[in-house]
Amino acid sequence: ESTKPNNFIHQIIEDDLAQGQNGGKVVTRFPPEPNGYLHIGHAKSICLNFGTALRFGGECNLRFDDTNPEKESQEYIDSIVEDVRWLGYDWAGEIRYSSEYFDQLYDWAVHLIKEGKAYVDSLSAHEMREFRGTLKEPGKNSPYRDRSVEENLNLFEKMRNGDFEEGECALRAKIDMAAPNINLRDPVIYRIRHAHHHQTGDKWCIYPSYDFTHGQSDALEGVTHSICTLEFEDHRPLYEWFIENLPVPAQPRQYEFARLNLNYTVTSKRKLKLLVDEGQVNGWNDPRMPTISGMRRRGFTPASIRNFCDMIGVTRSNGTVDVGMLEAAIREDLDANAPRAMCVVDPIKVTISNYPDGEQEWFELPAHPKDESMGLRKVPFTRNLLIEREDFAEEKPRKWKRMSPGDAVRLRGAYVVRCDEVIKNEQGEVVELVCSYDADTKGQNPTDYKPNGVIHWVSADNSVPCEVRLYDRLFTEPNPDGDKERDFHSFINPESLKVMPNARVEIGLKHVVAESRYQFERTGYFCVDPDSTEEQLVFNRTVTLRDSWAK
Ligand code: ATP
Ligand code: MG
Ligand code: MG
Repeated sequence: ESTKPNNFIHQIIEDDLAQGQNGGKVVTRFPPEPNGYLHIGHAKSICLNFGTALRFGGECNLRFDDTNPEKESQEYIDSIVEDVRWLGYDWAGEIRYSSEYFDQLYDWAVHLIKEGKAYVDSLSAHEMREFRGTLKEPGKNSPYRDRSVEENLNLFEKMRNGDFEEGECALRAKIDMAAPNINLRDPVIYRIRHAHHHQTGDKWCIYPSYDFTHGQSDALEGVTHSICTLEFEDHRPLYEWFIENLPVPAQPRQYEFARLNLNYTVTSKRKLKLLVDEGQVNGWNDPRMPTISGMRRRGFTPASIRNFCDMIGVTRSNGTVDVGMLEAAIREDLDANAPRAMCVVDPIKVTISNYPDGEQEWFELPAHPKDESMGLRKVPFTRNLLIEREDFAEEKPRKWKRMSPGDAVRLRGAYVVRCDEVIKNEQGEVVELVCSYDADTKGQNPTDYKPNGVIHWVSADNSVPCEVRLYDRLFTEPNPDGDKERDFHSFINPESLKVMPNARVEIGLKHVVAESRYQFERTGYFCVDPDSTEEQLVFNRTVTLRDSWAK
């Protein structure tokens, strides 16, 4: 890990270590809110936080930032735990929850009240917004700002006891209503929510704000470097204010980096949840989703995602990464590591008229052309075969290197065959090709003629029926979030999923298990979908062999 490229966060840590900061310790954390599944943007944060800890021999905590009980659930917690593990990372000790610190945070809120640095405000949310001012105008003090410590302590306890309705009052830090940074204009630090919490049950009806929770949780866990995205840069003074004004056990510091934006993709849990709730996709782990679980199901490897995160680097300037880079990362991995197989996705029947019915011979093909250690695979050749419909043309286009009437082509790894007859149905569609094979072309080329290309094939008599799901990008626009008039829904690609129900794959794949990955020769990289059954295998196309979107 230590050979990975340096980034500015690593530089900061190296400097800190050189100065003996934090007793030479490096502790980071990955703090997801369990209000949805993790997406590729989170992968960047995961790789940065866990990767940084690994690089410096430190530790990274997994902490659920669970202060909004209504939006959170155990399902999300479970999925996040699974995704972080799958990406290949392990956290220090137990999983943490911000909610574990609710008692401590409550005491610290009381501490602020006693110091005259927090007050219970009875303005409505709407009034609070009005009083807050704008970037150009300072805010105004709430008429409740000067309540006595006694009164505040009393009201805050009542808040805790459930004596108020939601929104009736809130606890605010008393900082400065004229601060140029709006985050410092007496931010709300506790609000009333009569909501059941997935961890704390009905113990609390008041919940701390993100800002009041995050830095203090970092301090409690001994986090040294609290790394977050740039949107939180403006919150840093508040983060520091709490650390300075509370008797916290450590002095964590916040650092920001640019979030990952990918073209043709939305990376916002809220929007991804909409796609799921509206049925635009089949769940959070739909292979078209940019979620970790969707990418996993699509056939991405953990290593490809980690490599992608290395490739894009970590900086402080916002930009958009081409999704082609992500596709390149998985192609590179699968090219090296996925065994080869033949699958006919959209079959057309081929009968070898001079090959005896009932006979079968086995050809041996390398499992990987560049990696002998993967061994050989056996593929049966029979009288009845299948080839790809698009590998046949009755009228052959210029430079055609596939099958057409009268021409000879090599069936990959087997014989050269010649197309003698084209059989059509009443609608004029080609339903069968009658061919003859050249028995002298096993493992050698004919001497007196040249085959017109090489195509893939499977035996119709001895292969495995399967469904193949071909995916395209979920959005047709590079920036589905960037149009002022039309929201991302208008750019959903209606052809993002094409199901091929009659595909056939070579017999050696009969007993494959979910998540096995292959290159189907000439077709692309594929992964076994968990929908597969004994009767019907299902393959997801992870990515095409080449970038078909490249101009
Ligand atoms: P979303 O906007 O999708 O809801 P979030 O930031 O609210 O994302 P969290 O669960 O709070 O989601 O995120 C956990 C961590 O992942 C945070 O530190 C956050 O900054 C980081 N993160 C989220 N999205 C991205 C992204 N696109 N690029 C990099 N880091 C991200
Ligand atoms: Mg967040
Ligand atoms: Mg969010």
